[in-house]
Amino acid sequence: MNILVIGAGQMGSGIAQVCAAAGHRVLLHDVDQTAYERGRAAIEKNLGRAVEKGKTTRADADALLARVSFQADLGSPVDVRIAIEAALEDGALKRSLFAKLDSIAPENAILASNTSSISITKLAAATKRPDRVIGMHFMNPVPVMKLVEIIRGLATSDATYEFTAGLAAELGKTPVEVNDFPGFVSNRVLMPMINEAIYAHMEGVGTAEAIDTVMKLGMNHPMGPLELADFIGLDTCLAIMQVLYEGFSDPKYRPCPLLKKMVDAGYLGKKSGRGFYEYR
Ligand code: NAD
Repeated sequence: MNILVIGAGQMGSGIAQVCAAAGHRVLLHDVDQTAYERGRAAIEKNLGRAVEKGKTTRADADALLARVSFQADLGSPVDVRIAIEAALEDGALKRSLFAKLDSIAPENAILASNTSSISITKLAAATKRPDRVIGMHFMNPVPVMKLVEIIRGLATSDATYEFTAGLAAELGKTPVEVNDFPGFVSNRVLMPMINEAIYAHMEGVGTAEAIDTVMKLGMNHPMGPLELADFIGLDTCLAIMQVLYEGFSDPKYRPCPLLKKMVDAGYLGKKSGRGFYEYR
């Protein structure tokens, strides 16, 4: 089937890769063509590694890449069965994208969002097909991580849920059904822990290395919370904390001032070369 993926950043490029790996044709759209080129290069790098390790052949890797093409704009109708949106974690931006997708996708197409925290019900309300809007929350890095959190908005139909969970399973993932509340399950539990680790760092309880080592060796986490925050992107972490804070109107979710300061400085983590750690 044809799948439209919106946003060619770390998540969108990974989603495009796993969809193309399952034999689907992917139209990958980004407002920034260089982001598309970076996203495509990331897919090529992943495939190159898989070929080296003997997990796939050069011919299969080339065929996969040939199934991914650039969708320069969203100005005219697109023939797709599902659109998966993975642009920035910004509610207003996502709502306008959903209104646009509603106007260009076939009537029976499903509109899914890879949002980390934003209300699926609100995104659905920006369309005339709220029953065909759903959350499809992949984990980072997409080709590696097994979970897809499938979020049902207030109006999401059973047919939409079954289709989306079926697609996730076809991509080799494990779908888990959750309901629409700020941060869903994953980020309602994960992000306050990351935010608390940033507070602990800001208050001088420990260095970034000390905090991460405590959580890795003490709690058996594969990555420490600050390392993980860098990996996710500090802008995305801040946006998720804002959604939790505003969504629950509860001060326990207030974003740490150090997180805000780092985002203001452009220290976004791995993707910008600097966060709690430095990257080359
Ligand atoms: P990213 O910054 O790597 O990529 C975002 C991309 O969206 C950029 O290439 C940008 O050019 C593009 N974009 C911005 N505005 C756009 C528009 N109007 N139309 C099309 N493209 C547009 O971010 P990311 O980490 O890939 O996150 C994308 C989404 O996935 C967010 O909603 C985020 O919350 C979610 N998510 C992120 C992670 C993670 O670990 N980073 C995990 C799960 C979900």
